[in-house]
Amino acid sequence: MMKDIISKIEKEGILGRSGSNFPVHLKWESVKKEKAEKKYVVCNAAEGELGAFKDLFILKNHSRYVIEGIRVAIDYLSAEKGYIYLKKEYFEEVHDLLKEEIGNDEIEIVKKKGGYIGGEETALIKVIEGGVPEPQKKPPFPTQKGLWGYPTLVNNVESFYCVGKIKREEYEKERFYSIFGDAPNKGVHKLQGGITIREILESTGNVPDFEYFLKIGGGACGIIMLPEELDVPLRRLGVIMIYKKEGLDCYALMKKWVDFLLEGNCDKCTPCREGLYRIMEMIEKRDMEGVEDMLFAMEKTSFCPLGTSAATSLRSFLEKVLKNDHENKN
Ligand code: SF4
Repeated sequence: MMKDIISKIEKEGILGRSGSNFPVHLKWESVKKEKAEKKYVVCNAAEGELGAFKDLFILKNHSRYVIEGIRVAIDYLSAEKGYIYLKKEYFEEVHDLLKEEIGNDEIEIVKKKGGYIGGEETALIKVIEGGVPEPQKKPPFPTQKGLWGYPTLVNNVESFYCVGKIKREEYEKERFYSIFGDAPNKGVHKLQGGITIREILESTGNVPDFEYFLKIGGGACGIIMLPEELDVPLRRLGVIMIYKKEGLDCYALMKKWVDFLLEGNCDKCTPCREGLYRIMEMIEKRDMEGVEDMLFAMEKTSFCPLGTSAATSLRSFLEKVLKNDHENKN
């Protein structure tokens, strides 16, 4: 029966929703094959990206599928216990609802600590253990040594939702998209997975009638995409931010993103901590000379993916939007 569920997850091609797109069945099998006295399951509901609200939407409207998915994972792995690692701002809204769904099961709700980085999988393990939200070196991966040194499965809310639906034979290949910013029809939308970004905008009434660009994968660490680049499926985190070009102050927007990252990082490593600080100085002076060296150092030497993806994200904005904005003004 449990072997059956893993082949169904594989057949449906369920991918991790944290942005890594790692196949869910492979992660489950990695934990399964570890020989250990105890194993744990964690549902990551830390949802830290700017403009990301889809996990909250799923928890409020479809919590029974999420809990079902966690139960399936606990059974499949013969795990000791499950945890829901919940963003503190969501606690009031969904805690009671989740408790009711959980009933007497061994699933505990833990409040997220720290900023954006508190949702990184090794940082959240530290928090559940009672420590501070700081990313840890990988390998070993949490699938090998996670909570208290035991193999731990960490999946996103939407992944457990999909498993819950598969278990109940109700899965319809759906995916949730959080569309915000200057979007004409802001909100969380449920659509078919695998469709192109242009199709997502069209079917949700979000094709702007103004000049725009998108940030795909989240307001802080997403990648800029221009209107002519949208005929590809959305493979990253399901967050689409729409920005209107007219009247846009590029430096004010970058300041908002870098402020968020400075607030949400953990200050553990120099490239990310100092790099973001120096980039903020450049933004405040409205002079980005030397930024490429900072971005290169952040991408190559940051300790965890936040520093790397923050740099990649900023570079995509500099190349696709700021450069163009300067050329138009000169
Ligand atoms: S890149 Fe470094 S400072 Fe930034 S969040 Fe990761 S560990 Fe912390």
